[in-house]
Amino acid sequence: MAAYKNKIDLHMHTRSSFDGHYSAEEMCASAVANGLSVIAITDHFDVDFFERHNLDTRQKTSYEDIIYAKEVFADKITVLRGIEMGQPTYDIPLTEKSLARYEYDFVIGSIHNPRGMPDYGDFDYKNMTENEIYSALDNYFEEEFELAKWNGFDTFAHLTYPMRYIVQAGRNEIELSRYDDITDEIFKVLIANGKALEINTSGLRQPIGKTMPTENYVRRFKKLGGEFLTLGSDAHFTEHVGAGIDSGYEIAENCGFEYVTYFKNRKPVQVKIEK
Ligand SMILES: [Zn+2]
Ligand SMILES: [Zn+2]
Repeated sequence: MAAYKNKIDLHMHTRSSFDGHYSAEEMCASAVANGLSVIAITDHFDVDFFERHNLDTRQKTSYEDIIYAKEVFADKITVLRGIEMGQPTYDIPLTEKSLARYEYDFVIGSIHNPRGMPDYGDFDYKNMTENEIYSALDNYFEEEFELAKWNGFDTFAHLTYPMRYIVQAGRNEIELSRYDDITDEIFKVLIANGKALEINTSGLRQPIGKTMPTENYVRRFKKLGGEFLTLGSDAHFTEHVGAGIDSGYEIAENCGFEYVTYFKNRKPVQVKIEK
């Protein structure tokens, strides 16, 4: 696979995330070593785990570390001040108050768990009935639709997230075509609001072996009029910074996109896809 120019990775986590390991500086050093030109550091802010994740403190540490790394690497790479807002629709006032604390370039919107429940990754898919899995997915797509309508983010992250765990549990009979209508509704809201769709490449290094969402969704987004795409490795380790971004570009190109997007001061910047 030929390498693309202007490698951009807009989704990664530092040790300021509950599941991160490295400093912002270490993530930036890896990005430079891997030839990236723009990155966003996007630590987790799972609104519904505000107390448990000690987010009041973590958000501050995350932001300050990003600012520090941004200065250290100023002549080598563009570092964007990002955040991944998890489940923002579960507490919109707290979300909005938290976003207003700092000047972000870029906000990711995500859903990782149903209301008041653990992460989709913690479900026992092996022992759930097919109906139970579909009922969890019904709820997931409803929550994704609510997230799209909330509209306080720049990119809509890792659509089809539960599938990576469902596939990992060997439940290959589960398929998503019954959600095509609601997915179209989600895309129409994103497009009407000028929001981006994320191609999250973390699935490429996991058993599912595919991006979230997969190419068919990206093609549908384009067909409905989608304009903005972001690419993100969702790296939690330095060695994954930039991982799969070339595959993301290839998918974008296959689906007819000529540009990918990054966000600076919450405004889209289009970057031509070229080899
Ligand atoms: Zn996420
Ligand atoms: Zn993430």
